[in-house]
Amino acid sequence: MSDTDFFSRIDAALEAIETEGLTKIERIMTTPQSSEVGVSTPEGEKRVINLCSNNYLGLANDPRIIAAARSAMEEWGAGLASVRFICGTQTLHKQLEHDISAWLGYEDALLFAACFDANGAVFEPLLGGEDAVISDSLNHASIIDGIRLSKARRYVYRNGDMSDLVSALTRAREDGARTCLVVTDGVFSMDGAIPDLISLTDIARAHGALVMVDDCHATGLIGPEGRGSGAYRGVSDRIDILTGTLGKALGGGMGGFVCARAPVIRLLRQRARPYLFSNTLAPAIAGAAIEAVRIARTEDERRSRLHANAGRLRSGLTEAGFTLLPGEHPIIPVMIGDAAATLALSASLFRHGVYATGFSFPVVPRGAARVRLQASAAHDEAQIDLAIAAFRAAGQETGIL
Ligand SMILES: *Cc1c(COP(=O)(O)O)cnc(C)c1O
Repeated sequence: MSDTDFFSRIDAALEAIETEGLTKIERIMTTPQSSEVGVSTPEGEKRVINLCSNNYLGLANDPRIIAAARSAMEEWGAGLASVRFICGTQTLHKQLEHDISAWLGYEDALLFAACFDANGAVFEPLLGGEDAVISDSLNHASIIDGIRLSKARRYVYRNGDMSDLVSALTRAREDGARTCLVVTDGVFSMDGAIPDLISLTDIARAHGALVMVDDCHATGLIGPEGRGSGAYRGVSDRIDILTGTLGKALGGGMGGFVCARAPVIRLLRQRARPYLFSNTLAPAIAGAAIEAVRIARTEDERRSRLHANAGRLRSGLTEAGFTLLPGEHPIIPVMIGDAAATLALSASLFRHGVYATGFSFPVVPRGAARVRLQASAAHDEAQIDLAIAAFRAAGQETGIL
């Protein structure tokens, strides 16, 4: 028995992706995640400086975190074989939730297997068909999916455009929305832009709306104590719901969380579907995250090194003649424009020993293709300088410079 139509549709879809030059390949790494990694190529292993991981604080391979994971596994076991509410909550999980909420300034936190799940979980239990979500047009896919899973009405405002936010809120109110929730990424991952959360929270207040921020690219790396975009803008107390990941700056393992006032978290524990119907975090993951949060909270020197590296990379590339999107975040978009030229630059960089991914439509707007770099506290100055030299060589080789 076979449905030939089904399989020929799959083939056609793959062919279309290939023809449009949108096929994503997985490069196979032969080493742990670090500032420099081994990558498997047809010619054998190649060592490259890694400028495309979310390993902002350089904790992905930190020996203290590995030790914490190992000892948590030894003390608490390999797995719980249960969702949280049946028999899947250990003191370890409660400690991690406590540490996260205390650090970020909330009454409570709730863990998920990923921030994708956290964003998928929050909207449906908290909002009904009478309510409205006012969402930035560049919000992460998981926010878009989470809103879709709820009955709330969705209003989209143009990325970072505060007057469009006002119009969207006004429309939602005119349509009779009961609760309005404004939701934004704390950092937009393709641009490294940090939204104007002062204006955003002012506008939300003026319209009686709640505010939710997804701080996946912010928690641990920006703001005082690494408390994220709200703290960076000085308005963390105005953010009602915060989601974040353990899979980026905080050790890069996996896991996500929601922070909010206690009753909000209490209701999510009763109703959030990825919490109710999906396995608890493994002890090794939770133990590693507790140590990662401790380090992120206390080791300011990692944030200093991260931002110094980002600054060095920015000024070196600007001096070399590249066009960067301006910004204050260690995400550094090198703007190329043309998709094919972007691919060529990324390939040439790889030959020159730099691992940096090119992004084109539909991930970024047509004509705005770019190579996106991410600095890390793990880089040293010599690696940054080598990367800049590789950019000069690759830029000339591809005719971009
Ligand atoms: C990475 C990311 C996510 C997903 O986080 P995971 O923990 O990897 O599922 C969600 N939102 C934003 C803004 C992200 O950058």
